[in-house]
Amino acid sequence: MKQYLIIGNGTAGTTASENIRKIDQNCKITLITSENFPIYSRIRLPEYLCGKVEKERLIIKSKEWHTRNNIELITDTTIKQIDFTNKKALASNGKFFNYDKVLISTGSTPFIPPVKGGETEGILTLRNIEDADKIVQICQEPLNIVVIGGGLLGIETASSLGLSGHKVTVVEFFERLLPRQLDKEGACRLQRLLEKNGLTFMLGEVTEEIKEKYPKNSKASENREYDHSAPPKLVKLKSGHILQADLVIFSSGVRADITLAKGPDTNKHDAKESEKNEYSTKKSDIDICSTKESEINGYNSKKSGDNQYAVKTDKGIVVNERMETSLPSVYAAGDVAEFMGVNFSIWPEATEQGRVAGINMAGGSAVYKNIPPSNVLKVAGISLASAGEIDVDGKMECNITSTDTVYKKIVKDHNGKIIGCIMVGDTTDFNKIVKTIKGESQ
Ligand SMILES: Cc1cc2nc3c(=O)[nH]c(=O)nc-3n(C[C@H](O)[C@H](O)[C@H](O)COP(=O)(O)OP(=O)(O)OC[C@H]3O[C@@H](n4cnc5c(N)ncnc54)[C@H](O)[C@@H]3O)c2cc1C
Repeated sequence: MKQYLIIGNGTAGTTASENIRKIDQNCKITLITSENFPIYSRIRLPEYLCGKVEKERLIIKSKEWHTRNNIELITDTTIKQIDFTNKKALASNGKFFNYDKVLISTGSTPFIPPVKGGETEGILTLRNIEDADKIVQICQEPLNIVVIGGGLLGIETASSLGLSGHKVTVVEFFERLLPRQLDKEGACRLQRLLEKNGLTFMLGEVTEEIKEKYPKNSKASENREYDHSAPPKLVKLKSGHILQADLVIFSSGVRADITLAKGPDTNKHDAKESEKNEYSTKKSDIDICSTKESEINGYNSKKSGDNQYAVKTDKGIVVNERMETSLPSVYAAGDVAEFMGVNFSIWPEATEQGRVAGINMAGGSAVYKNIPPSNVLKVAGISLASAGEIDVDGKMECNITSTDTVYKKIVKDHNGKIIGCIMVGDTTDFNKIVKTIKGESQ
């Protein structure tokens, strides 16, 4: 019986497991996650912050779904290393998982820019339910909150907290909001709408330093009531502004979690420990993939991109159109993967890559094509979506509709084909336009 191991049960991993099962009814599928939940919607975490959705409603596929599909779901278990030569994955609780084929679908982790004091205790990010619970726990009474990052997630998080009665300031490095999704006009309109909702923005600003407002163990910190796991801060901006923050949340993008591409860290294990861990591979064995293996997967480099890594990596784990990595029997999909230099780290991309990986792992044939990014802002009372090429510089052919409440821009290429759009105030037909951009309809 074939054994498939899937590390990470986000949309990439879960969709892969579903597609493996569709093709192979007899194999063993093990889906492992370091979190304590079956797959849930990260997308809805901002709504969870303000109580708009309950925890149970975040779950996308129940434990029963996994049982019905004979997919072994192991929660609360982190894989520490993979021994690619002996096809075993080691969990931090000491357990081993053998596999014939493995999928690395470990997603990404929030990026905290190198700001002085950025590693200070109590600075939060929002990636998973645990993070959200921590934020909810701290936000029991009205607070001054600073969100660093004015991208989609930053705005959704800020809006949700604003809705809960907190005073929220968003600090953004660019001169406008959603720099990847909106042009200047679209961003201005969005900013006005969000300001009406009570948010404050500091645009074109760099966070220079974050300090404890009441230095630890100082007199000033004594007898003050605040959550001591997240003490109040002062956020110093390059312009000289200093923001008072009961809570600081970083929302400055994500980085692919490529830790497992490293393989067994033989340097850190002496011979005895290697034996104990059933690792007998020398580092050199795993650093270099043979030319043959490389050719199989369409790679012509003998060595992994980075000497530290057993599997070829760049910004993410490099995959080909079948979601194969530079090592045979090792696949990657979702936020952790990079295909043709691209990694948008968005849900539809991860889901589709998971589908393609699952089919190919089970012996079927599927090919991944980069899909144009499309995003919908989920803020109560604001309709906003954008997709594909947004023509920031205004150099392309565009159809623009501009009224008091609506800004719509449809971008076309030199053949008149729709290649992107921005929609503020009215997102009717957005899905239809996205299909056209993808070439799925005319
Ligand atoms: C708050 C929030 C809002 C978002 N909103 C949107 C949106 O509106 N639209 C959109 O398209 N995208 C959105 N995204 C991005 C989207 O959620 C991700 O692109 C998507 O979840 C990626 O799926 P994935 O399966 O690759 O990884 P993930 O969903 O990150 O899942 C990876 C899983 O692997 C687990 N894992 C990691 N390492 C290990 C290990 N060593 N051992 C065991 N388990 C491990 C992780 O704990 C995690 O559970 C949002 C993300 C966040 C955080």
